[in-house]
Amino acid sequence: MGNITFTMVKPTAMRKGFATKILAKITDAGFKIQALKMMQLSKVQAEKFYEVHKERPFYGELTDFMSSGPIIAAILEKENAVEEYRKLIGATNPENAEEGTIRKMYATNIQENAVHGSDSDENAETEATFFFPKNERFTDDGKLV
Ligand code: GDP
Repeated sequence: MGNITFTMVKPTAMRKGFATKILAKITDAGFKIQALKMMQLSKVQAEKFYEVHKERPFYGELTDFMSSGPIIAAILEKENAVEEYRKLIGATNPENAEEGTIRKMYATNIQENAVHGSDSDENAETEATFFFPKNERFTDDGKLV
């Protein structure tokens, strides 16, 4: 049971102005922010990030979308972070997401589903490292992780 997860606010949610509302929901749920930045992924970076999906029919469309505008990337810390965050964001397809979840509230459709959330402790570490060097990660009391 790990204590970090990795998230992104995806481009459509950024364009619609939902980023601060989503971040407030995350911190209200007890997650601490270990790292945070706004950036735009290149197509190549998006392809690398979603490499596990490269055989899926939506890979091209998904990576075009994810590199289409700025995102917010963050490392979140909480006990059992991966599972707790998956609960907070809800199902991949917002039509199946429970009321009150981030995807139910802020997603546009199954692809533009407002946020990313890691699906395992191992992927959380890999994804966190993909986006943030060690000197950009801080504990709740302001020390480097
Ligand atoms: P997640 O872990 O809930 O994000 O879901 P997955 O790992 O299965 O998929 C990764 C991302 O691919 C999702 O968050 C969506 O943005 C996108 N995605 C998943 N399924 C579909 C689909 O059927 N069509 C399209 N266009 N995008 C999808």
